[in-house]
Amino acid sequence: MILYKCKNVSIMSSNQSAVKVPAQVSVLLPLPLKETFDYTCDFAPVGTLVKVPFGARKSYGIVWKGKGTYPSKKCKPVFEVFENVCLPEVSLKFIEWVSEYTMTSPGQILKMVLPLPEAFDMKRKSTLKLLNFTPIGTPQKPQLSMDQWAAAEDIKRSLESGGFQTFLLEGVTGSGKTEVYFDAIENVLASKGQALVLLPEIALTAQWLQRFEARFGFRPALWHSETKKSEKKQTLKALMEGQVPVVVGARSSLFLPFSDLKLVIVDEEHDGSYKQEEGVIYNARDMAIVRARLSGATCVLASATPSLETELNARVGKYRELHLMDRYGGAHMPDVHLIDLRKEKVAKQTWLSEPLREAMKTTLNRGEQVMLFLNRRGYAPLVVCQGCGERVMCPHCSLPLVYHKFHAQLLCHHCGAKGRLPDSCPKCQERDTYSPYGPGVERIYEEVQAFLPEARCALLSSDHMTNSKTVFEQIKAIQDHEVDILIGTQIMAKGHHFPLLTLVGIVDGDATLSGSDLRASEKAFQLLHQVSGRSGREKHKGQVLLQTHMPEHPVMKALVDQDRGEFFALESDQRLIHGFPPYGRLAALIISGMRKDEVEKFARHLARTFPLTQKADLLGPTPAPIPLLRGQYRWRLLLRTSKEVAPQPLLKKWLAQTSVPHFLKLQIDIDPYNFY
Ligand SMILES: [Zn+2]
Ligand SMILES: [Zn+2]
Repeated sequence: MILYKCKNVSIMSSNQSAVKVPAQVSVLLPLPLKETFDYTCDFAPVGTLVKVPFGARKSYGIVWKGKGTYPSKKCKPVFEVFENVCLPEVSLKFIEWVSEYTMTSPGQILKMVLPLPEAFDMKRKSTLKLLNFTPIGTPQKPQLSMDQWAAAEDIKRSLESGGFQTFLLEGVTGSGKTEVYFDAIENVLASKGQALVLLPEIALTAQWLQRFEARFGFRPALWHSETKKSEKKQTLKALMEGQVPVVVGARSSLFLPFSDLKLVIVDEEHDGSYKQEEGVIYNARDMAIVRARLSGATCVLASATPSLETELNARVGKYRELHLMDRYGGAHMPDVHLIDLRKEKVAKQTWLSEPLREAMKTTLNRGEQVMLFLNRRGYAPLVVCQGCGERVMCPHCSLPLVYHKFHAQLLCHHCGAKGRLPDSCPKCQERDTYSPYGPGVERIYEEVQAFLPEARCALLSSDHMTNSKTVFEQIKAIQDHEVDILIGTQIMAKGHHFPLLTLVGIVDGDATLSGSDLRASEKAFQLLHQVSGRSGREKHKGQVLLQTHMPEHPVMKALVDQDRGEFFALESDQRLIHGFPPYGRLAALIISGMRKDEVEKFARHLARTFPLTQKADLLGPTPAPIPLLRGQYRWRLLLRTSKEVAPQPLLKKWLAQTSVPHFLKLQIDIDPYNFY
C-alpha cells in the first residue's frame, strides 16, 4: 500500500503566475459509516487530524488516502487542520487491517485509534499536567533464575534484531514471568522505543503497578476504563509527541497511536476479557500480534495455561516457546485433592463438605489463610416458588434474576435490571413462597460465619469491590493478615500474591464445565488452574480441595495430575474431529430484534441464501443460548471453514445478496469466543 501525500496544486494562469488552489482530500470520520467524505484544504498529509463540517455539526476526522469522486466544486473546505497531529503510517495500516478482518467500518476503528481528538484542540481549555517518566529513586533489578535469564536473553535477541517475532512465555503462577518481560521492557527503554503491556483485568493493576514502580522507578501511562478522561488526553498528546515509553492498559490501549512500538506484552493471553463483544467485536490478543507484525515488534504472550490456539502455534513453530519450569524462590505448585460430592454428603442448605471444613480449621489453627472460590456473584442464582416451581425471571432477558441478599435486591447480570422479591407468586398466587435456590458467594459467606464465627471473613466479588481503590484496600487487608478467610469469584483468581494463603477450596468445580461452549473444558481448566495457583508460595506449601460430582472428568484429572499435556491432547482431538478452532475457523452471525417472528424469519432466510461451497459449511440457524437479551430476541448462525480459508470473503459475497431490515441487527463475530 502506498500512502500518497496531498500537496497544494499549482495551476499556471494565463499570465504565468502560480495561483494556489486547495486540494481535494478524503476525510475518514470516526463514525460507523462505510465511506469517506471529500473536502478541500491546503496542505494536509495523509493521517493529519482535521476538523470538518458534517451535516449541521462539526466533526474531527483524519485525512485519508485517495480522494472520492465527489465534484470538487461542491466540496466544502475543512474548518481546521491540526498540522502537528498526524497519525503514524502504521496506525493507518492497522485501521485498514482491523476493519477488513472484523468486517466493521474503518471509521469505527479510527474512533479507537484516536479517541478524544479534542485533546489536540488548543482552543479548548486544557488543564493537562505533565507526565513524568523519569525514574525517581533507584530502580530495583532482581536476580533472575537460570530459566528466567535464558528466556529474557531470547527476547532480547529478538528486540535487537528489530524483526517481528511472537513468543509464548509459559510458566505456572509464581514462576516469575513478570520479571522476564520487565527485563524486555528495560531493553526497550534503553533503545528509546515504546512498550505496551496488556492486562486482562483492571483489578490486577494496583499490585502490578507497585511492582512496576519498584522495578523502574516511574509510573507507566495507564489506559483503561477507570482512567480519568483528563489523564487519557494527556497520555494521547504525549504519545503523539513520542514522549510515552510504556503504556499499561486494557484491551483498548492496543489501538493507541504508538509511533515506535517495539514490544507488546499480552499478560494472561488466554483470558476471555481480551475479547470485546460489543461495538467492534475483536480479540485483543490476536490483534496485538497483528499490531506487532505491522511495526516489526516483538510480541510476548504470557500464560500459565495458554489457549489451545497459542499452544498449537507454538508447537508448529509459528511462535517461539519459552518455558519457566519452577516457581520462583523454590516454592511448589499446591497439591490438588478432589472431594467427591457423590460420596461426601453435605447437610441441606450448606455447600461445604466435612473434609473441606476440617482443612479450613486446621489451616486457620496454623495461623494461615483460606480462600473459598465460587464463580457466582450474589446470594443465590435462582429464586423459586416453593408452591409451583416458578422462577423469578428478568423482564428483558430469558434469564433468572440473581438474588443479592446483602444489597436486598434481585439483579440481572446481563442487562442490569433490578427488582425486589415479589410478595406473591404470579403463577399460583400464593404469598411468601419464594426461596433462594443454590449458592452464590454471599451464601457461602453466611455458611462460613455460622460454622467459624471467630474467623475474619472478606467477601470479594465485583459487587463488593466496585473500583480499583476498594480492590487495593481489600488486597492490602489480606496481605496484612487482617483477614482469615477470603470468599470470592474469579475477580480473585488473578495476579494477587498472598504469602499466607495455603488452602484454596473450590466450592463447585463443575459449575464452569456446563454450557454449549466449545471451549467449556478449556476455560474450566484455565480458571481452576489459576485459582489453584493462589495457594502456597515461598516457604508454605499450598493445598487445593476441589468439590466435584465428576471426579473422572479429564479437567479434574489434569488438575490433580498437574499434567496439562494429556488434557491438551484430548481436547485437541475433539476440536480436530469437529473442525473447530484452532483446527478450523469460525464466524458467528447474530441476528437480533424486538420482534421474535421477524428475527427467526430473517435467520432462516439468510440460511437459505447461503451459497453452496466446498470451502465452508453453515451450522444453524438456531435460537441463541440466551434467546432474549436486553429486550432483543436473538438467533445465531455459525460459519465454519478450514484453517486455510478466510471466512470474510465468503461472508461478504453471501451477505451482499441480502439487505438487513432496518428493525433488525446483524452482528458478525469473527473467531467467536463466547456463544451466548
Ligand atoms: Zn408459585
Ligand atoms: Zn436482563
